[in-house]
Formats: sequence, structure tokens, C-alpha cells
Amino acid sequence: MSEVYLKIVPADMDFVPAADSYPKAIATLERFFPDGEECETTVYSSVSFIDQGEYIEAIHCSVCGRTTRVDYLGGEDDPGRRLWDYTMDRLDDTPAANVDLQMPCCGTLVPFTQLTFDWPAAFARFELSIHNPEPEESLNEAQLAELEAIFGCKLKQVWAHY
Ligand SMILES: [Zn+2]
Repeated sequence: MSEVYLKIVPADMDFVPAADSYPKAIATLERFFPDGEECETTVYSSVSFIDQGEYIEAIHCSVCGRTTRVDYLGGEDDPGRRLWDYTMDRLDDTPAANVDLQMPCCGTLVPFTQLTFDWPAAFARFELSIHNPEPEESLNEAQLAELEAIFGCKLKQVWAHY
């Protein structure tokens, strides 16, 4: 049984929208995805990794520009997968902003929050999410603009599969 989530977060990782905007935002996302479940907001005490789950395919190095493949389903023999698992374990007890990755591409120690990913992930202190939205299509510009007006900030979309 596949579990899919659409996560919507502020483009500015430190921004937390005002709490009185949450009910309207939830109602709006539920209107966009009437068959989705568990539409909810989450506020994190520090900047958190908004992960894409099994959709991770690659890490883009912000220093040298090269890409490290992550063969998530290829198992623990894949060096990218080992780096990824190690990083996810560190996030269990370390704020994302304090995690560095020793990148295999160039050997540089890079702050985790400066990396980008395929599929996209994000860093944020706030998340609006919905479980199993149908269809599995990202919000269009008009829909995103409606939520951006409610929250008063630019937003990013992250799809996650578990
Ligand atoms: Zn690099």
C-alpha cells in the first residue's frame, strides 16, 4: 500500500505563518483535494527536513555542482543510499541546521540545509500536508497563489512517498 503525501511549506525556511490562518488553509487544500485524508498543519521547534521519502533519487552538491545518485530501492550496497541513511539517522537527534554532509563528489563538508534534491525536498519550520491526494498532481499557479495569500508567504511543494 503506497502512502503519498503532498507537503506545502514556506519558501523561507525560517518563516512560520500566523496560527489564525491555519483553518482556512486546511479548508482550502481540502477543497483542492476532496478525496485527500488527514489534511493538517505542523509547526516545528526548529528548521526541519521536509523529506520526499522513497522519492529520493539524487543529492545536488551546492559546492561543486555535481550530483550524487541515491539508489533508494537498491539497498545498502549503494554508497548514495548509505550516505542518505546515515544522514536521516543523524536527523533523529540533531537539528537539520546542525547537520553537515561529507560529500562524495568533492569531499567538502556541506551544510545539509544548503543541498538540493531530486525529487525536491525542503527545509521548513511549518508544513501544511495532505495524505493520499487525488489526483497526484501539484497545485497549479492559481491554487498555490490562493494558499500564499492565506499564509502571507511564498510556498514550495514537496511530494513524499513512503
Ligand atoms: Zn561536491
